[in-house]
Amino acid sequence: MNSDLNFMNNVTGFKCFECARMFTVDEVKYVCPECGGNLDVRYDYERINQQFSKASLAADRNFTIWRYRPLLPIEESSPLPPLSVGWTPLYDAPRLAAEFGVRQVLVKDDGRNPTASFKDRPSALAVVKAMEAGATVATTASSGNAGAALAGICASVGMKSVIFVPATTPAAKVAQLQIYGATVVLVEGSYEQACELCLAASERFGWYQRTTGYNAFTAEGKKTAAFEIAEQLHWQVPDRVIVGVGDGNIIGGLWKGFCDLRQLGWIDRLPKLTGVQADGAAPLVAAVNGDGVIRPVVGQTIADGINVGDPRDGTRAMRAMRDSGGGAVAVSDEEIIAAIPRLARATGVFAEPGAAAAFAGFVKLREQGVIQSDERVVLISTGSGLKDINTARRSVGEPLRIQPDVAELNKLKV
Ligand SMILES: *Cc1c(COP(=O)(O)O)cnc(C)c1O
Ligand SMILES: [Zn+2]
Repeated sequence: MNSDLNFMNNVTGFKCFECARMFTVDEVKYVCPECGGNLDVRYDYERINQQFSKASLAADRNFTIWRYRPLLPIEESSPLPPLSVGWTPLYDAPRLAAEFGVRQVLVKDDGRNPTASFKDRPSALAVVKAMEAGATVATTASSGNAGAALAGICASVGMKSVIFVPATTPAAKVAQLQIYGATVVLVEGSYEQACELCLAASERFGWYQRTTGYNAFTAEGKKTAAFEIAEQLHWQVPDRVIVGVGDGNIIGGLWKGFCDLRQLGWIDRLPKLTGVQADGAAPLVAAVNGDGVIRPVVGQTIADGINVGDPRDGTRAMRAMRDSGGGAVAVSDEEIIAAIPRLARATGVFAEPGAAAAFAGFVKLREQGVIQSDERVVLISTGSGLKDINTARRSVGEPLRIQPDVAELNKLKV
């Protein structure tokens, strides 16, 4: 094993997704200095293989995203936030597999993270980078979950956070921000407008900027879910992974994670990555299924986590969906709402709308025959259903209401 364990030395630099220029770690803070494009963190996989193996992982009792530290762009000596992020359960869902006639369906329940969404993965990494940079304030624009995650993880290390969210953000997510002590800015506008405002604010006040599609490290945090899926399946790669897509950073990060493992020689093939968007906010579906050009729309869907009309990480997402062969599908809000109780009743996992979209996409693609009967499919539930109970309640009727009287129980038709 290599004794030089500064993991940052495993990073060889950044590569721009748009212009393909390379930069050293010291040359860049956020986006490409030449064209403003998003950056990809590059690694020396030979070096990583000297520090790290499937066997060393198997012996590691740290069941958080930090078990993959040699594959993350952080200093070895960096203090890590105390909240337990990642290593979320991957549940087998045999009744769904039987109902839909596929080999296996698995659900990765990322609602089990500390602030109840997938966004704890990128936000935890961003807070480490903010601490490395000596920042005292971190900021992000968010449709809700990224902000809640940043606020919660900042609270765990005593860092201040300033969060910009659209004023339409579901109440539970806004409450989370306030409870964690963030300075909350409700923006009377779209998520895209909240992003622009947040970027202007961090430039002006020098805050550490976590916003998706601007901070190159968020995708590195997100890729840990791919590592977990592969490890939890004993390095047997599933045929397909399905996830809700807004900015496209999750699906791009997942692709990065599987490609990292392939580069290390730890897996022998790559899964198809299938992105699901809502009909009212589906510019990436249109691009993947059309001419490859992303044409922004005004996003309109009840699934706030994926209500993005102008994806901030579209190029990376397109590459994941096209290069993996997984493609993209759009589902209606009605299909998303119906998917929430259907998934919950078949698995016990209560997903928020942006998360249930993955299951709605699965249903649609299976019915269309795109998903084959011999496939092993992983659905990622990206956030807890408790994040947005108002939408969830639209999928169920009113509960029974009775007087506290045994005779009244006859009303129950169980
Ligand atoms: C953010 C989010 C997504 C989509 O992630 P992107 O990186 O924006 O594509 C999906 N589901 C939920 C619940 C989210 O919060
Ligand atoms: Zn560039």
